[in-house]
Formats: sequence, structure tokens, C-alpha cells
Amino acid sequence: MPDSPAREPADLLITHGLILTIDRADTTLRDGAIAVRGAEIIGVGPTKRLLDAYQPTEVIDATGQLVMPGLINTHTHSPAVLYRGLIEDLPLEAWLEKLWVSERQFVTPEYVRLGAALAQAEMLRGGTTTAVDMYWHPEELAQAALESGFRLVAGPVYFDGDAPDRQDTDSREASGREFLQQYRHHPTIIPCVMPHSTYTVSPKSLGRARDLAERFGALLSTHCAETATEVRTVSERHRYSPQGLLDELGMLDERTILAHCVHTSGSEIEQLAEKHVTVSHCPLSNLKLGSGVAPIPAMQKAGVRVTVGTDGAQSSNDLDMWTALRVNATLHKGVHQDPTLITAREALRMATVDAAEAIGLGGRLGSLEAGKLADVVILDLRRPHLTPLYDVYAHLAFAAGRDDVHTVIVHGKVVVRGRDMLTLRENDIMAEVNVLARDIQQSQR
Ligand SMILES: [Zn+2]
Repeated sequence: MPDSPAREPADLLITHGLILTIDRADTTLRDGAIAVRGAEIIGVGPTKRLLDAYQPTEVIDATGQLVMPGLINTHTHSPAVLYRGLIEDLPLEAWLEKLWVSERQFVTPEYVRLGAALAQAEMLRGGTTTAVDMYWHPEELAQAALESGFRLVAGPVYFDGDAPDRQDTDSREASGREFLQQYRHHPTIIPCVMPHSTYTVSPKSLGRARDLAERFGALLSTHCAETATEVRTVSERHRYSPQGLLDELGMLDERTILAHCVHTSGSEIEQLAEKHVTVSHCPLSNLKLGSGVAPIPAMQKAGVRVTVGTDGAQSSNDLDMWTALRVNATLHKGVHQDPTLITAREALRMATVDAAEAIGLGGRLGSLEAGKLADVVILDLRRPHLTPLYDVYAHLAFAAGRDDVHTVIVHGKVVVRGRDMLTLRENDIMAEVNVLARDIQQSQR
């Protein structure tokens, strides 16, 4: 094609794909293209039009492929992949106690960095481009993310008592303040203050977490009403339910993400909607730990913003957002004997645009539109389990999986290309993990 002076420069042009924008109108484009400059999408439209309009440095031909926004996991503890499959078949409280005793022996900054790198490799390969990640030593999570190219929501954890990182609240808060200062305007690291829960953090420390989040305008995320035991314990101790206590402390607003909300009453659901709080629904973790099934359809009906998380692999064994998405889109139909609940489209929105809003990037992330950040996932459609293709949403919610992910772009940068991880040395990471795992397993005997 002859060069025309009218063609605008672009760094990347993805051509000939089936583009699923997940914009407000749910626009899909056959033989569509996306132009990217720097970290941003600058054009979305028919391939022919974009080829005429842009002069790209690089072209990715997405013939036979689906192009969609990256998935956003709103609740995980990524370095806990190092405990995947080690402690099984226990109730949450007993399981946590066993985990924390062991973690106290192993959690160091190096451990966190290694675990985060392994987890980010898993997530990026699977099409998850962003995660809300609650773990000790968040500065190490951030370093791992800067290296892998992952978009990370993280920050200081509050936890009273004998914590796995062997720090006290004062020192953790001091380094947390530095973290928030350092990343408050960062392009890919989004600060979030993370008190663990109302059963492991005192009201006084919860108040400190709230103040710190307010001072920096940061997000706030905590576990809430995960099990019936938690609700009973907190209610006896504080005369408030977990959510009630958070409300009493002024911690419920549009920047708050509550993980789980399984044992949430009708009036509490109304409150979540009124205060614009986000729920991170972790269906697989709740099923596997026997915690129950969160009242997601009631939350939807009340207008609560519901998003999806995997939780950590120490409990739910998998950071695969496709499975979380599929369980979310099927579980509630079965429980309520109503196949109209949580449509494939709704399930997809929860894991993309709704989650982007939850992390404060509603206008910037979660859909493929000009002016938004280029977090893009390309899936192979030419596969037996995806052929024929009638309804792309149904395929994504009920048939597609992470093995279909071919190429992944975060913040305009290609991090996985043709199933090759470009930013991390996975073999070295796995070798190092296997050495550490031997020690972890020995300690369990
Ligand atoms: Zn969790």
C-alpha cells in the first residue's frame, strides 16, 4: 500500500479480528481493527478504514481470532500460588491458621517477589491483565508487576497479631505510606489500602487503614462476610456484623471493594448499593472452602456493582478468570433454578468494564474504545470447542478458556505473543519455585 501523508502514526495495529469492544452498546466488529499508540487505543473500526488511517510500526494479524479487553481479577493473593494444593479439606478458620503458621516461616520479600512473578505469568498467559492483589510486602508485588508488565492494584495490608510478614502495624504502615506516595500517580500500579478483615484487624487499626486510604485518595479492599462463623464471631465481639462494623467506621464508599459478601443480609445489600460499594464475588473459593453461595442475583437486582475474583491459589487453587467467570455465570442459575440469572453478557461485563470502574479506572479501562488504555487479549477462535460461533458472549462465558489466549497486550505493550511469555523467564522462575517448595513441604511434616 502506498504511503499517504494523511496516515497517522501508530505503534501497533491489530487487524482482521472479531472485535468485542464491551462498550456501552456492546459493539462487535467483524474484520475489525484496533490502533494503539503508546499505552492508548487511538482507533477502533473496520480493518480497511484503520489501514487507510494509520501508519503502524507493528501489525498483528488477528484473522480467525477474537480481540477483547483484558480480564480484571478483583480479589487474589497472588504469591500464595506457592501454597497451591498443599493444605486441603479444612474449614476456613482451621485452614487459615495452618497456612499462617507455615507462612510465618517462609514469607520474605524474596518469597513474595518469586510468588508474584509465577502468579503473574499464570495470569497474563490466561488473559488476566489486572488484579487486585492483597499480600504482604506489596512493594515486591509492584516490582514483579513492573517486570512482567502486569497492571497491579496493591498496597499496605493491615493485620493485627502474629502476621506472616513478622512486622507490626506501625512498621507496615510506615512502609505502606511510602508505597502510596511512590505509586499514587503511577500509570500501571494502582494503590489500594488492604485491611485483611474485621475478624483479624481491630476497629482501631481499621480506622488507621481508612485514614491512610483517605489521605492518598486510594482504593480500600477487605474480606467481608466470607463465612457464617466470621459473621457470628465479629457480631459477638463488636455487636456489628462485618459490614456493619465497616459502615460504622466510615469505610463503605465507591472506592471500597469487599471480597466475598457471602453472608450478607437484604438490608446490607441495599446498603452496598446506596454506598456504591463494589463486591468481589469469588464463587470457586466460596464453594471449595464450603463458605456458601453469595446472593449475587439479589445484589444485581439492588444495583450493587458486582465483579469477579479468583481469591488466592492457596485456597481456590487456580488464578483462572475464565473458570471464575463461568462458575459465576452458571452457579446462580442452578441454585435459584432460574436459567435467566446472570447472562453471559453480564458475566463478561463484571470481569471487564464493571471491574475497571471498581478500581477507579471506569473511563480508562475495561472496554476497547479510543482514548482507553490498551489492555487487550487475543483469543484463537479456530478451535474445535469454539466452532461454530453463533454467539460470542456465550462462547466466552461457557466454552472458552485460558488455553485459547494467544496474545496479550498490557498498557500498549505486547507481553504474551503467540503463547510465548515475552517479559518473564518462566523456566528460571519455576526452577526457583521448585527449590523453595521442597522446604515448604518439609516444614509440613
Ligand atoms: Zn482472600
